[in-house]
Amino acid sequence: MIHQKEYREECILQTHYDVTIIGGGSAGLTAAHLAQSLGAKVLLIDKKQLGGDCLHYGCVPSKSLIHVAHVVQQARQAAQFGSSATYQCVDMAKVSASIQGVVQRVGDTEKTYTEGVTVTFGHASFTSSTTLLLNNEEITSRRILIATGSHPAVPQLEGLQATGYLTFEAFLIGPEAVNNRKIIHLLWGKAHALHSTGSP
Ligand SMILES: Cc1cc2nc3c(=O)[nH]c(=O)nc-3n(C[C@H](O)[C@H](O)[C@H](O)COP(=O)(O)OP(=O)(O)OC[C@H]3O[C@@H](n4cnc5c(N)ncnc54)[C@H](O)[C@@H]3O)c2cc1C
Repeated sequence: MIHQKEYREECILQTHYDVTIIGGGSAGLTAAHLAQSLGAKVLLIDKKQLGGDCLHYGCVPSKSLIHVAHVVQQARQAAQFGSSATYQCVDMAKVSASIQGVVQRVGDTEKTYTEGVTVTFGHASFTSSTTLLLNNEEITSRRILIATGSHPAVPQLEGLQATGYLTFEAFLIGPEAVNNRKIIHLLWGKAHALHSTGSP
């Protein structure tokens, strides 16, 4: 996992860069790694944590959850194949902890993307096409790449606010929270699927 503190301690901000990237998700990390490998002096800024949706709320936790579902399904069907394994129940708190373990391990491997790159955290604002104000410090850069990703868009559905809903962020951080609730999975600004997670 890539922690802010770790980088703050290491990072001595300089004021001029060849390439500055705002957003440390998949796109920002890849761009930073590529630019650095081509010899550029690179600054990567994120407002929160590196890894973005893919690591924390998207690809990694969703595939981990799907893996758990496959394992549970196999356990349920084990007797059909002559296995004496018995299925009892799923402890969603443990599932959640196991998913966070996977996120941590994948996050650790992503550190290689920031080798040779200056990483910092905070809110950046443009003062010109080549100047940013970051935590009250002015930074200039020949090129600035905005890689700030996207957010879930909540559709205007009648009754939705009263019913309650979860976006993928809340769902994949703590899948134990969704037991016996209906969720709407909001991806890339669209409602893709309506699931029931065990409601009677
Ligand atoms: C449930 C789910 C499953 C998915 N599964 C897959 C999959 O299997 N395969 C696949 O290829 N893709 C998958 N995706 C899509 C993938 O997660 C996205 O395509 C990817 O995360 C986009 O990366 P990004 O860097 O553009 O944006 P993000 O990952 O959103 O990263 C943006 C970063 O910018 C930072 N940021 C935002 N605003 C600012 C600001 N003002 N200042 C500084 N930093 C800022 C954020 O903190 C964040 O770290 C999935 C998505 C979801 C939701």
